[in-house]
Amino acid sequence: MKRRLEHALVKGIDAHIVEDTEEARLAIKAAGRRPIEVIEGPLMDGMNVVGDLFGSGKMFLPQVVKSARVMKKAVAHLFPYIEAEKEKGAKGKGKIIMATVKGDVHDIGKNIVGVVLQCNGFEIVDLGVMVPWADIIKAAKEHDADMIGLSGLITPSLDEMVTVAEEMEKAGLSIPLLIGGATTSKTHTALRIETAYSGPTVHVLDASRAVGVASTLVSDTLKEKYVADTRAEYDAIRAARAGKTAKQLTPLSEARANGFVIDPALKPPAPLQPGLHIYEDWDLADLRRYIDWTPFFRAWELHGTYPSILSDTVVGQSASSLFADAQIMLDTIIAEKWLTAKAVAALWPARRQGDSIIAITGKGEVELPFLRQQVTKRQGRANMCLADFISDKDDWIGGFAVTTGHGIETKLAEFKAAHDDYNDILLKALADRLAEAFAERMHAFVRQELWGYAPNEQLTNEALIKEEYRGIRPAPGYPACPDHSLKPILFDMLDATCHTGIELTSSFAMTPTAAVSGFYFGHPQAEYFGVARIDEDQVSDYAARRGLELDRARQYLRPNLND
Ligand code: SAH
Repeated sequence: MKRRLEHALVKGIDAHIVEDTEEARLAIKAAGRRPIEVIEGPLMDGMNVVGDLFGSGKMFLPQVVKSARVMKKAVAHLFPYIEAEKEKGAKGKGKIIMATVKGDVHDIGKNIVGVVLQCNGFEIVDLGVMVPWADIIKAAKEHDADMIGLSGLITPSLDEMVTVAEEMEKAGLSIPLLIGGATTSKTHTALRIETAYSGPTVHVLDASRAVGVASTLVSDTLKEKYVADTRAEYDAIRAARAGKTAKQLTPLSEARANGFVIDPALKPPAPLQPGLHIYEDWDLADLRRYIDWTPFFRAWELHGTYPSILSDTVVGQSASSLFADAQIMLDTIIAEKWLTAKAVAALWPARRQGDSIIAITGKGEVELPFLRQQVTKRQGRANMCLADFISDKDDWIGGFAVTTGHGIETKLAEFKAAHDDYNDILLKALADRLAEAFAERMHAFVRQELWGYAPNEQLTNEALIKEEYRGIRPAPGYPACPDHSLKPILFDMLDATCHTGIELTSSFAMTPTAAVSGFYFGHPQAEYFGVARIDEDQVSDYAARRGLELDRARQYLRPNLND
């Protein structure tokens, strides 16, 4: 019996887990022992094997999440019996509060880390997404937690994490604070978060590191040295930073004089179908062909490029099995219409005004303020700004917002009720892929039909992923226009919330999360770039153009400030 449970866990097979667990429970009961011992014995032993295989790089995330699903189903079966005997749950390794911070809605990473930690014997109290600092601190106290793990994906979440750290300090907490998520970094954690909180503060790079870090932090023998070493490392990061003076940047006036000059002869033609276009239910089967699969594997921490990742010597087997599951789920998503794809796209007359673009929408003229690179350039290289790609008069700009997230909550609730993290994460990752595919599809549709400057374009999906088409679709929050707070302006121009149901959080994250929004530039010389560091002269210029208080502008532009 023990072997069978272990086999089911290690292989991640949940088909017979409830029967097998029941059999184990009856056997243990017949021996006069308690149901909790099924967990403490064979189930934990099986999970330890999984944890060891993952830790040593012999098993990968998708498999671990499948194993965790088996464990959760077994535990869910035993729970009523354990409750009936009023036993205390198995004393885990430690209790961890996990939350995606206020204003942010992304939780694939947080959920993966939570599952992996649970597999390794930690008790996870998951507070969900958009969690205000007060709730995090309250939960930590109520649960007498051993540590707090914060997650976030978008840049405004970095500031929110600093706020949580400050409030933890004020509340007198001293438990470790773990920081993770796409835009977080060791440097930001050292410079801004650790300095706000006197308890141990650690940046955790990915799920595979989370177990090691958390285990060390609950260890009587290892904790002290690890905390001291981490402090020393972060001290060194701060010292190295303090030694450097801020980078010498080009004054804004000079950067402007060195802007990118487009060839006016290549200005895109007037669109065939200007104005606003609403799509309430785009065919999901059509979107499937536009999926870029490489980021899908990255979401599961499988590194490599699709399609060669499927035959990779190390992760190939894991990637192939995950990919097969994804195809089956995609078939069902399409056949049973789990998701609805909604979009709005628009093309407006526009002109350039300095570093801003003026768009003439149905509601009147709207100023779109953009930022210019101020890093010093080599001879012959321009200090770019998106406004450079638009002419001083008689030009065009577009905007779009697409989502494939409507309907997802119903299915996620079903998976949650079935203790099925694997399908929960798989569905979220697929919905994200479909949203990016929709952005790709809509862009092609705009080039071929709505704007119509590339009517005969015929590009393979590979070529689309490599951006071999004419024009770009920069998205607020990305390097060419890093300020997320442009989204409310764009949404207003598109009436995006009304037409697509996408809403913005206090940090300008989009919900549903499976959503993409941005601008269309049709000039053949338009290209992506990164604004990178900007100086105070541009911050005040931008604040004035936006009609923002200087402090507010500094807050929005924080990731690009030169300090
Ligand atoms: N095919 C990938 C696309 C990733 S980039 C995928 O499916 O995930 C996603 C989007 O980010 C692009 O389509 C574009 O809208 C935006 N983007 C990329 N680089 C950018 C930059 N430097 N500035 C602004 N937006 C950018």
